[in-house]
Amino acid sequence: MRIIDHFVAGGGLAPATRPDVGRWGDVFDPNLGEVQARVPLGDAAVLEAAVQAALGAQPAWAATNPQRRARVMFRFKELVEQNIDALAHMLSVEHGKVLADSKGDIQRGLEVIEFACGIPHLLKGEYTQGAGPGIDVCSMRTPLGIGAGITPFNFPAMIPMWMFGVAIACGNAFILKPSERDPSVPVRLAELMLEAGAPEGILQVVHGDKEMVDAILDHPAIKAVSFVGSSDIAHYVYRRGVEAGKRVQAMGGAKNHGIVMPDADLDQVVADLAGAAFGSAGERCMALPVVVPVGDKTADALRSKLIPAIAALRVGVSTDTGAHYGPVVNAAHKQRVENWIRTGVDEGAELVVDGRGFTLQGHEKGFFIGPTLFDRVTPDMSAYKEEIFGPVLQIVRAPDFETAVRLPSQHQYGNGVAIFTRNGHAAREFAARVEVGMVGINVPIPVPVAYHSFGGWKRSGFGDHNQHGMEGVRFWTRVKTVTQRWPDGPSPERGAEDGAAARVQDAFVIPTMG
Ligand code: NAD
Repeated sequence: MRIIDHFVAGGGLAPATRPDVGRWGDVFDPNLGEVQARVPLGDAAVLEAAVQAALGAQPAWAATNPQRRARVMFRFKELVEQNIDALAHMLSVEHGKVLADSKGDIQRGLEVIEFACGIPHLLKGEYTQGAGPGIDVCSMRTPLGIGAGITPFNFPAMIPMWMFGVAIACGNAFILKPSERDPSVPVRLAELMLEAGAPEGILQVVHGDKEMVDAILDHPAIKAVSFVGSSDIAHYVYRRGVEAGKRVQAMGGAKNHGIVMPDADLDQVVADLAGAAFGSAGERCMALPVVVPVGDKTADALRSKLIPAIAALRVGVSTDTGAHYGPVVNAAHKQRVENWIRTGVDEGAELVVDGRGFTLQGHEKGFFIGPTLFDRVTPDMSAYKEEIFGPVLQIVRAPDFETAVRLPSQHQYGNGVAIFTRNGHAAREFAARVEVGMVGINVPIPVPVAYHSFGGWKRSGFGDHNQHGMEGVRFWTRVKTVTQRWPDGPSPERGAEDGAAARVQDAFVIPTMG
């Protein structure tokens, strides 16, 4: 059986001799429903080895000038591009998303690496000459030391790169704890970072579950933690990390709505929804699992176009280039999604297309779920309130625009939202009023580009800073402000004799610059 080992500088953690030898996780091939590898579930001892290596490496890395750090990022980007086919294959057979989607996962991460290549410019500080008599003030962004990232299974390339790309470019060492469900790509990325010229100990990968996460949250040498995953765990990580005195950003779950106004181009909406609701089997935090047509006429027309579009979707193995989407990540998740479909039926929603019981010849044990469509879902249903994270689309009919603004605004999650319309005024009004962090106007999955920043509101995000863009630079650095005076003998305004007495007197007054 293949072992996916920790990637900790200095070695010495061979699986057979590690103290955590007793605890392992299974990594499945979701196409076959079979275990394909095992991953050690590490503990505080494994983390300690990584922290010690990071402490050894970080000061010299922080002292490396930012152009040199940027050059490592440029080389890393090139190496990932050279290896993208192999990485995408590795990702598809552990996660279950199709190859084109895996490449997209890697590509979106690389865009953050491109952003991080500009670190010399991004870290330039602020300077005020003459803030007072002979006094200059400068503010500089300095690295925090060691940062850690805890990432979910659904973007095993992009989300680690969101975090370590910016953190490392800023001069920090970074310890990544990827999802134990698909840990191979993160390890490969760390190998490529080393090959690109990052010193040993600057990017390390430790595997594990809650025990490792708690060890990270409690370790005093780790100054900042970035988390992405489900909301309850995000909230827990946020609280425990902050209590331990760390800087924490914790992104949580989502239930994104797509508002369809009566003037929308319905054919375009249906094409967009097919990808946004069912792509990657719905396992995206920016998926659109809820569609809100405004008015019954819009709802009926949309529904009649959605049914044949869903019938045309091809569910297949993740390496089949003709498939629209592949299996979900594991058996427990498949069960969970199917339970939500049952709950939706029990709660009185109309099941229009039922994806349960879907099988693929030759892959009968694979974790496949067919596309599922519900109509007449209402806000009081738990299947509406909670995240399903599967290939399930729910139609929630809204009588008017006001209801369409209210639904996503009052939902517990506030990650992304989209409105489809030809009316600029309605779109502008919607974007201004809706209580959600990322808004798309005729854009179904409004994931911001790397030089803007990614983050949701309400239970979709805890903490003050978003991911990447300048928000990322702010998260991974702290500001030091230096106020300096370089006196050249006694003050010119005073005679030499009374200068000393005046200086003593001045020292008892809170200085003002004006
Ligand atoms: P998850 O919360 O189960 O796991 C995320 C991370 O937390 C993993 O590394 C996991 O090992 C760790 N973890 C699991 N249980 C833990 C516990 N009890 N205590 C401490 N740590 C624990 O999430 P997932 O299933 O891997 O990912 C899917 C979720 O992530 C969805 O809710 C999705 O919406 C969300 N997500 C959010 C964003 C965003 O930016 N808002 C992006 C991607 C995914």
